[in-house]
Amino acid sequence: MSKGWIGVDLDGTLAHYDGWKGPAHIGPAIPAMLNRVRQWISDGKVVKIFTARANIPIAIPYIKSWLQENGLPDLEITATKDLKMIELWDDRCVQVEKNTGEPTVEQISALIIEEYEVMQKEKRRSKETEDFLSASFREQAGSNAHLDESEGELQEDALRDVEQLLECARREPGRWKNQDHE
Ligand SMILES: [Mg+2]
Repeated sequence: MSKGWIGVDLDGTLAHYDGWKGPAHIGPAIPAMLNRVRQWISDGKVVKIFTARANIPIAIPYIKSWLQENGLPDLEITATKDLKMIELWDDRCVQVEKNTGEPTVEQISALIIEEYEVMQKEKRRSKETEDFLSASFREQAGSNAHLDESEGELQEDALRDVEQLLECARREPGRWKNQDHE
């Protein structure tokens, strides 16, 4: 049996993406992902560029040039899955636990951290609530300090918030995705 292949998305995964600017524009390579792909190739793994751009014939030569400019071989470019695709690396994927329909624990954690960061950035919550949310995360990590009674009550609220985030992540994984889909 021949070995499988790893699908790597282009925009937002292997190449920096900040909005569609036509088939001729592909953003600069993202170093961490580029190095990972190079390592896979030198390990003899089969990598394919998995991108919706593959549906636009005129886009293909631009992708081929981009690969060459970034020191990558002439990788296959496709937008089609087949039975030999063993992994897909993509900034829009939400990973689910096989046969359950539920996001994986790792996925839920990532979604919660992402949401928490958004909450902090947008300052949707008061500084105080943020502090107690942080405290609840520290407690989960087993390193929280002793709390007096009133702090304990407030921390319960924060833990409830975390529970709600978890519940939302389980029910509506799509809601937790990037908002800037074209
Ligand atoms: Mg993408």
